[in-house]
Amino acid sequence: MTTKEKRFPLSLSSVVNQRSGTSLQASAKLQTAVQNASTNPRHPFPNHPLPPPVKTNNPALSTPDRGVGMVSEKIRQAMVARVAQQGVKDTLALAALEAIPRHLFVESGLASQAYVDASLPIGHHQTISQPYIVARMIEILRNGRPLNKVLEIGTGCGYQAAVLSLVAKDVYSIERIKALHELAKSNLRPMRIANIRLHYGDGMLGLPQSGPFDGIILAAAGMEVPHALLEQLTIGGRLIAPVGARQQVLQLIERLGQQEWRSTVLEQCHFVPLHQGVI
Ligand code: SAH
Repeated sequence: MTTKEKRFPLSLSSVVNQRSGTSLQASAKLQTAVQNASTNPRHPFPNHPLPPPVKTNNPALSTPDRGVGMVSEKIRQAMVARVAQQGVKDTLALAALEAIPRHLFVESGLASQAYVDASLPIGHHQTISQPYIVARMIEILRNGRPLNKVLEIGTGCGYQAAVLSLVAKDVYSIERIKALHELAKSNLRPMRIANIRLHYGDGMLGLPQSGPFDGIILAAAGMEVPHALLEQLTIGGRLIAPVGARQQVLQLIERLGQQEWRSTVLEQCHFVPLHQGVI
């Protein structure tokens, strides 16, 4: 691993404009979640069965594909193949991306764009994250090992929480905008995913009552990673966050000891800003 490593405390200026490569895990052949589910009972999610088909009385969701039809599965496979081509090797992250119907997390008018590898508006000046970055951050967070308890800051529409639910035992997710917290609840409810807990609050404070977490993932960029979150990592735990304003980088923080963290700057990225407080 050729990384630039730093010890805390760190200023942003000490971490931006550095690049590094990571060796995450040996490359593995991409299998589709569909293949895995049908051919290998131990894969892709041994402890977490795939979400059942959407059953709802909500007319907006009454057809599982919101009009996209059978095509969505094929388009999703193609999207995942593109994400893999961009360098994501973690087969579990890729399988999770393939299993979650992203079009159910965007407005029906945008459903046809749901499998373009791009962020899309979800209202309140926020976006659903780009599939590549969701998979990439999960790959970094997992680092080839199983995840037990994961905290997400910035639930948004709930998409990444759904993907995380397939790679971690328990997922906690915090959203500061009440309307989006409610949107995530209504998006996720029909999928009946048992291991996600949604919280309305300021994610910069973390969730000390539920921690510590062996993975923390921020879906919004601050000028630095809030200290409260560093304290809520298990020793050996990993946090991945976008850091910066216009120029942003992905920052990986590993907790090495009670008072010791290591920070590594990874690739450039683009996220909505992290804000304090709730609205
Ligand atoms: N995870 C989402 C991405 C949502 S965009 C997905 O699956 O696509 C980032 C979200 O972070 C926004 O909804 C924004 O409101 C939220 N956010 C920003 N600052 C926050 C904070 N301090 N606490 C909790 N959520 C925050």
